[in-house]
Amino acid sequence: MGHIKLHTAVPGPKGQVVLERRKNALAAGLAKATEVVVESAKGAIIKDVDGNEFIDFAGGIGMINVGHAPKSIVNAVKKQMDQYIHTCNIVTTIEPYVDLAELLNEVVPGDFPKKTILANSGAEAVENAVNIARYATNRSGVLVFEGAYHGRTLLTMSMTSKYGLFKKGYNSFASDLYRIAAPDTYRIPKGMKEVDYEEYYLSRLDHAMVSQVDPSALAAIVIEPVSGEGGFMPIPKPFLQKLRDICDKNGIVLIFDEIQCGMGRTGKLFASMHYGIVPDMTITAKSLGAGMPISAVVGRADLMDKPHLGAIGGTYGGSPVACVAAIEAVKMLINPEFQAHSEKIGEIMRKRHEAWKKKFSIVGDARGLGPMRLIEFVKDKETKEPDADITLAIIKEVVANGVICLRAGLFSNGIRFLPPLVITPSQLNEGLDVIEKVIEKYSK
Ligand code: PMP
Repeated sequence: MGHIKLHTAVPGPKGQVVLERRKNALAAGLAKATEVVVESAKGAIIKDVDGNEFIDFAGGIGMINVGHAPKSIVNAVKKQMDQYIHTCNIVTTIEPYVDLAELLNEVVPGDFPKKTILANSGAEAVENAVNIARYATNRSGVLVFEGAYHGRTLLTMSMTSKYGLFKKGYNSFASDLYRIAAPDTYRIPKGMKEVDYEEYYLSRLDHAMVSQVDPSALAAIVIEPVSGEGGFMPIPKPFLQKLRDICDKNGIVLIFDEIQCGMGRTGKLFASMHYGIVPDMTITAKSLGAGMPISAVVGRADLMDKPHLGAIGGTYGGSPVACVAAIEAVKMLINPEFQAHSEKIGEIMRKRHEAWKKKFSIVGDARGLGPMRLIEFVKDKETKEPDADITLAIIKEVVANGVICLRAGLFSNGIRFLPPLVITPSQLNEGLDVIEKVIEKYSK
């Protein structure tokens, strides 16, 4: 028996009512990727209010790597709720905050003393990381990259790339940010060898340190080791290494935004572990809380300790309910058996995506790192012209057929695969079958 169960069209009659209420009650600009109105979710399955059951390939945008509502997390949250919900870590010390910080200081890469702060969202953590780096270096410049996504607050929106979708209309942005292109190993100029392309990008970095900003003015370089919204592009190791070297030479803080690519998404706890390159600060969120709103900046203790007492804080940061969920999530994610399963899931996706790339003229690229994967749709394999329209049409039809998935990429022409890592091979293959059928239809 299949895992997908569809009794009505999507949305069904009950879903339509909620969507109509949403339209009337919520601001029109709030992003909405599908018409699914959720009733419950468990593991890798989401059930909607009309009783339809979907295989989830979106995981709340990479927030549900441990699966929807694992027992250990639900139990920890319930227990904490019975004990106390929140007293604010500024007012009274919250022990689960300390527990989680100790755990993160231990598991985040870096053979040096570390300290942690907790916040509520990815954007808030990025803001804090930049603030601390600026404070610690007494500099203001921040280098970011094309295709980056760091959030939607003023600073992080300014750090985010992709103007049309995310930034248009906001008119004014934060200052002292510098942006250069990051390597896109799919769109290497025709005739250029990959190794020459990498060399070229390394030279562009040197160039930027003259043309854009002097390294002595940079507080931080912030990069996603595998881009999320930008299109699941693993940054080539020499490029990350060069960033590490520039930071070391010039006293710049290297910050890895692992909000989407971290917490087990690539098969290892952090993407940086694939590279063996250690940042000064690691930012994590999304799957850290298994659905609870929590984020963290984990960094070199000497940097993290620089801001004066009272310079960092927030009312909700490190909610004990979110902390206990995060502790259970991290315990799951560092389990070797969990990681072996994630790797297997990644391999199934990689093999099938590679086959699609060979078979279908519209699948231009299939890439990723471990189980963090994306396929890119193009109008022509030679020109690699992105096809955002077909991507949207395919996603719509895939969702209508019982698989929840999302687009990504600078040109909005990719389907990203972020299934909960507890997904079974049978669930995964059923979902992939649905997508393959729809791609086949649109390839004709
Ligand atoms: N950084 C990255 C890499 C992200 O993927 C996201 C969210 N998509 C953010 C920052 C912002 O996180 P949040 O939405 O929790 O503010």
